[in-house]
Amino acid sequence: MARVYNFSAGPAVLPLEVLKEAQEEMLDYRGSGMSVMEMSHRGKVFDGIIKEAEKDLREIMNIPDNYKVLFLQGGAHQQFSAVPMNMTRNGKAAYIITGQWSKRAFQEAGKYTDAVAVASSADKTFSYIPDCSDLPIPEDADYVYICENNTIYGTKFWELPNTKGHELVSDISSCFLSEPIDVTKYGVLYGGVQKNVGPAGVVIAIIREDLITDDVLPYTPTMLKWKTQADNDSLYNTPPAYGIYICGKVFKWIKAQGGLAAMKERNEKKAALLYDYLDHSKLFKGTVVKKDRSIMNVPFIIGDKDLEAQFIKEAAENSLVSLKGHRSVGGMRASIYNAMPYEGVEALVAFMKKFEEEHTER
Ligand SMILES: *Cc1c(COP(=O)(O)O)cnc(C)c1O
Repeated sequence: MARVYNFSAGPAVLPLEVLKEAQEEMLDYRGSGMSVMEMSHRGKVFDGIIKEAEKDLREIMNIPDNYKVLFLQGGAHQQFSAVPMNMTRNGKAAYIITGQWSKRAFQEAGKYTDAVAVASSADKTFSYIPDCSDLPIPEDADYVYICENNTIYGTKFWELPNTKGHELVSDISSCFLSEPIDVTKYGVLYGGVQKNVGPAGVVIAIIREDLITDDVLPYTPTMLKWKTQADNDSLYNTPPAYGIYICGKVFKWIKAQGGLAAMKERNEKKAALLYDYLDHSKLFKGTVVKKDRSIMNVPFIIGDKDLEAQFIKEAAENSLVSLKGHRSVGGMRASIYNAMPYEGVEALVAFMKKFEEEHTER
């Protein structure tokens, strides 16, 4: 077995312990005589799996009882439409544009509601988070929307926007379970799990109960209506059963590591190692304003395309893979999610130092 250090932005690295456990249970899940892939989602065994996953997630995130936890499909993109379809009352919504994902959500929402961009960091290639302390949020806005951690550009909202009393909706795909979070500050939180939680195919939405109603836009597909899923405990139709099973294992892994406070400490330590090096390097440079830096996705550049390509190639030859930046921005990006060990970042920084020595004139 030759595992690499995988810096992919998503689908991304999962804890080795989780993969091994899944491997052990692959052919015969705990005496059931079958794999979780093969069993009925209506059966007793799977019922236990999904209930336990929800219970563990509630415990880890300290989710209050008046919030529903939904295990959905369709990727984060599906919620770009589901949010306006389920939340439109007055027909207006405020979007804060901090990168490609909030831009896509904003454009999608524009089909269903009067979506207003109340702030944007597009002027500086999304390299910062705009000041959101006093935004021109329309009084009749049904909600304020953010993408909390910008996977492509490597920025993070370290302070939530002042929504002026409006519901906050947040896409937390790439910072899910990376640190403790106060769920009560949000109306809706959701994220695709393939960044920091599990395999692609599952989206977890955490929604305050009073926002789950029959009062949806009239043409809302049955499957996109949150109430359909909530009334059926995510089992209206066949859920992404195997993915939910793996997510459940990751929740247990996080608990065993000491929960979200421990995750945060680990993640900060890893990020500090890489950022500290970037701040002192003569060859590599971070691209994000310091105070807005993500501790999950770390973009950096050399500023010379050929040398960047060479770096990415040589890194891969040294088992440091998927360091290429998103196709829309180029450069490099190291995603250092929960399951990336400290040793992985150490190996990356050591390799970068060596590469720097070879490519800077003395
Ligand atoms: C990856 C990502 C998305 C898109 O997720 P899909 O599951 O592919 O739809 C949306 N938002 C954020 C923050 C992401 O990181």
